[in-house]
Amino acid sequence: MKAAVYHGRGDVRVEDRPEPQLRPGTVKVQVDWCGICGTDLHEYEEGPIFVPPASKPHPLTGVCLPVILGHEFAGTVSEVGAEVTGLREGDRVAVDPIYACGTCDECRRGDHHLCRSLGFHGLSGGGGGFSTTTVVQAQRTYQLGNLSSEVGAMVEPLAVAFHATRQSDLRPGDSAIVYGAGPIGQAMICCLKAAGAGLIAMVEVAAARQEMARALKADLVLDPRRDDVEQEILNATDGRGADVAFDCAGVDAAVESAMATVKRGGTYVMVAVWGHPASVDMLALVLREIKLVGSIAYNRDFPRVINLLKDGRIDPTPMITKRIKLDEIVSGGFEELLANRDRHVKILVRAS
Ligand SMILES: [Zn+2]
Ligand SMILES: [Zn+2]
Repeated sequence: MKAAVYHGRGDVRVEDRPEPQLRPGTVKVQVDWCGICGTDLHEYEEGPIFVPPASKPHPLTGVCLPVILGHEFAGTVSEVGAEVTGLREGDRVAVDPIYACGTCDECRRGDHHLCRSLGFHGLSGGGGGFSTTTVVQAQRTYQLGNLSSEVGAMVEPLAVAFHATRQSDLRPGDSAIVYGAGPIGQAMICCLKAAGAGLIAMVEVAAARQEMARALKADLVLDPRRDDVEQEILNATDGRGADVAFDCAGVDAAVESAMATVKRGGTYVMVAVWGHPASVDMLALVLREIKLVGSIAYNRDFPRVINLLKDGRIDPTPMITKRIKLDEIVSGGFEELLANRDRHVKILVRAS
């Protein structure tokens, strides 16, 4: 079968690989679509970061470089392993790519996304979605029903945003400000709408991404180089400030702004994966009693997102900016994103 294999920084090759073998409790999935994540791009540009290096195989998969990439995928079940119930050949599924040990304190209390050995299918070994077929744990698959596999490939990034919404304790009618209109920031708009947020404001510098945020129906799209973000938010919230801020930017300027735009006693959720230590005015945090909350990945969020998609309360299709074939993943995917990052939100790869 064909697979996109990560050999190291700047080195992804589409290769012929042996088909993965079924084990008890697993199913073989013929991948339809798999999205390129910012994490994949990081690995290509600056990695290995999450991909285990040759000196340190992943504790759960036992695998190190080279690995097949791709963790945002959906496809069709083509073979069902022993001891699997409730899944049949031909079922279309999205796959929660988390690997968790199941035995550490965090796993035992149900927080698999905080597992001490956390891994991801498509980063930590075990296969990946940028391949014709991949074998996954049956219990990590979710039936798509009538949803398309394209939409199915968007469940993973939406689940990241949905989890962040849950971490914020946002109530219907609350106002929200989102920093950074990359894939997760755009997914935030979708999930905040579904959660019943009142005002949804987006702060973004790139024009193409501002336009996308408008297409997803953000109420207020602000350019920090042109607009007085703090004043605009005060004006839009009767002088209170936003109930909740979401940081999907991971830059110091956004932190400074968020600390001023979130209301006194409000919540600031950090979703961004930072490449450097942040500079934070902790005195502002204390004096304004801002609650700073982290949010990573997802935990039991897949079925909730799929239900919202089925109800039509989330439509992520405007986020798909390009569709390519697996053979084009380097030139049309990674290199395209490096050259024109701001023009894209999600590039989907047709795997088979
Ligand atoms: Zn991802
Ligand atoms: Zn664990």
